[in-house]
Amino acid sequence: MTTTTHRTVSEILDRALAGERLSPEDGYGLIHADATDLAAMMAAASELRDRGHGRVVTYSRKVFIPLTNLCRQKCGYCTFARGPRDPIAHTMSPDEVLAVARAGARQGCKEALFSLGERPEEIYENVRADLAGFGHTTTSSYLREMAELVLRETGLQPHINQGLMERGEIVSLREVSASMGMMLETVSLRLHEKGGAHWNCPGKIPEERLRTMRIAGEEKVAWTTGILIGIGETREERVDSLVAIRDLHDELHQIQEVIVQNFRVKEDIAMRHRDEPSVFEMLRTIATARLILGPQMNIQAPPNLTPDAHGMYLLAGINDWGGISPVTRDHINPERPWPNLTELKEMCADAGFELRERLGLYPEYIRADPGYEGFISEGIRPQIERLADSDGLVKREEERW
Ligand code: SF4
Repeated sequence: MTTTTHRTVSEILDRALAGERLSPEDGYGLIHADATDLAAMMAAASELRDRGHGRVVTYSRKVFIPLTNLCRQKCGYCTFARGPRDPIAHTMSPDEVLAVARAGARQGCKEALFSLGERPEEIYENVRADLAGFGHTTTSSYLREMAELVLRETGLQPHINQGLMERGEIVSLREVSASMGMMLETVSLRLHEKGGAHWNCPGKIPEERLRTMRIAGEEKVAWTTGILIGIGETREERVDSLVAIRDLHDELHQIQEVIVQNFRVKEDIAMRHRDEPSVFEMLRTIATARLILGPQMNIQAPPNLTPDAHGMYLLAGINDWGGISPVTRDHINPERPWPNLTELKEMCADAGFELRERLGLYPEYIRADPGYEGFISEGIRPQIERLADSDGLVKREEERW
């Protein structure tokens, strides 16, 4: 085993398995461990995952509603955001929103993921005009009306992902959503320098994102977040990001899920000449995330971004595959199709796991485990009571394969 400044990797793994809280230095030791230590790291991470979640791995059956693909900024890796003159630029009408949601409901989806660009009306006149046509001045207030519409007309439970939010927006959207989210991505400020992935992206300033996540916790909103790897951050910065998420969750218990997402090259992005993180880099990072975040945290890695090796993620400590849609593509990575659910279920079974469907709100919040009480909004409660079993997962008779 390799040594770190303070402890050997073996000592760090022993500490994690003994239930001790790892320090940032422990995390640096893990993330820099030799490749020969990776198997031991994954074994320890798997053991922690089993303690917290048993041999159950979950996914959410959902539709994606890209309410607007215009955004006030342009991250270096983003293929989703479009400029106002781009023929693909579009803000969905209420009819279009409902059509997607109804298609999802017919396919047994439970969750409607509203994923959209951040505050495009700040800089684009045509967005302001579209919003005015829908009777709104902000994307956020239009989003609230659309979330309420989808909930009322289809019963799908909205999950909101619109970037930075103020307290009033979070409070208002809470009434019509099961949960919300926003990737922290990274705590690195270096990426805001010219040429960096977040240059000219005020919404990606880590302090601002952490502030939104804190407000969510104070308002009892379960929050999905995560880190994006391979966008120019160092391995230490990955650890710092995971520790920042852990610190926030320890205080407020609002982090329902941490995604470890790998950057994938696309032809139309500024970062098209950058290298993608390898599968081993993903495994190293997922295992480190589990060891830092502990047994209870839900850790997800998107199955469509590494289709040949995603089964390995199970061995590195994940317990969730995130949202998988039978209706809509992954609008953030449109070139990456979702796995076939039956094949995914079989792969999980081969690895010794049962694949179960969950809702947009994670089971511990539905069960109201100690520390997780009070996160269900009254607008969503009837749907949750209808669909969830005593474990907080989707009732088996409501699952669709
Ligand atoms: S990643 Fe999000 S915030 Fe960045 S440009 Fe794309 S839509 Fe906007």
